[in-house]
Amino acid sequence: MIRPEDGAPEGAGSNGQSKRMKSYRMVDFGAPLEAVESGTPDPTGTQVLLRVRAAGVCHSDLHIWEGGYDLGFGRRMSLKDRGIAVPLTLGHETAGEVVAAGPEARGVRPGDVRLVYPWIGCGTCPVCRRGDENLCAKPRFLGVYCDGGYSDHITVPHPRYLLDLDGLDPVSAAPYACSGVTTYGALKKLGDLIAAEPIVVIGAGGLGLMSLSILKALGGKGAIVVDVDAGKRRAALECGALAAIDGRDPDALSQLTRAAEGPVRGVIDLVGSSESAALGFDVLPKGGKLVIVGLFGGGAPWALPLIPIKAATIQGSYVGNLQELRELMELVATGAVARIPVTTRGLDEANATLADLREGNLVGRAVLTP
Ligand SMILES: [Zn+2]
Ligand SMILES: [Zn+2]
Repeated sequence: MIRPEDGAPEGAGSNGQSKRMKSYRMVDFGAPLEAVESGTPDPTGTQVLLRVRAAGVCHSDLHIWEGGYDLGFGRRMSLKDRGIAVPLTLGHETAGEVVAAGPEARGVRPGDVRLVYPWIGCGTCPVCRRGDENLCAKPRFLGVYCDGGYSDHITVPHPRYLLDLDGLDPVSAAPYACSGVTTYGALKKLGDLIAAEPIVVIGAGGLGLMSLSILKALGGKGAIVVDVDAGKRRAALECGALAAIDGRDPDALSQLTRAAEGPVRGVIDLVGSSESAALGFDVLPKGGKLVIVGLFGGGAPWALPLIPIKAATIQGSYVGNLQELRELMELVATGAVARIPVTTRGLDEANATLADLREGNLVGRAVLTP
């Protein structure tokens, strides 16, 4: 069903594009996305309007759609309370073609195909000024707090958030805006370690396969991958994992240390459940580091005395900053980052794709192509 957005202004059309824009919007938490037609906005000031060519579907879209996170111990974090308002167009992995720009937007021309950096902050606080807009306390993340890419058009507030694709096709490029920069940011937190010894990556979904590609491009020794799903373990091995282990095997821990042929000092947990974080912590020797990225939810599983006894570091990693996405796209432009499997779907399959993601039916990344 397509319904007109209540009170939406008609696009004035000075951008020369179709005056109607179709978006798949979350009208309420947990409710199916609705196809909504509205006026195509005219960019003002530094804004840039792009026609969406590819919109990646990410696990965090599911969390936003479901309205919150399980904090463990019977507690839940409500995204409504955290300032996420509906209606909202999801989608934070977007690549598109510039169709119009406001009078103060410099450096973009209609026809440019760009990747959108979505982790936009207030732009003025000390955190934003040092370049970490992804950590801003007043986020304006596209597809989370502001409208994103599950649409045929998207408005980006400033050209600086648009990255060159250097000839890469939009469908392959879109996932770098979240799963790419997220795994790149997490791998950087392990420092030089990745070149010296194998690491463990927990989770072989879109993020897991992406981390294998980027790890290799960064000159890493490789990763032992953990996933409970046999199909995903197979996909990880095909993408170059050193070994793939079922985290639910009773002897998963000893399988991990055997596969690594030594201690594992670096673990990236892309799942973020109590079980995955327990396994990731237990495999660490003294001085090891666990980087948690996944937001599956649950309570912390570690015995507190073991954290000082092991002198372990447990660090969170949340997407990545604009500079990190630029570095990643430079790495991609060298051809060193192998492409991960991508399934393309039409924009009108947004609901079905979210459902498939929730059921674990997708290998690699799903990308909507309006
Ligand atoms: Zn994401
Ligand atoms: Zn800020």
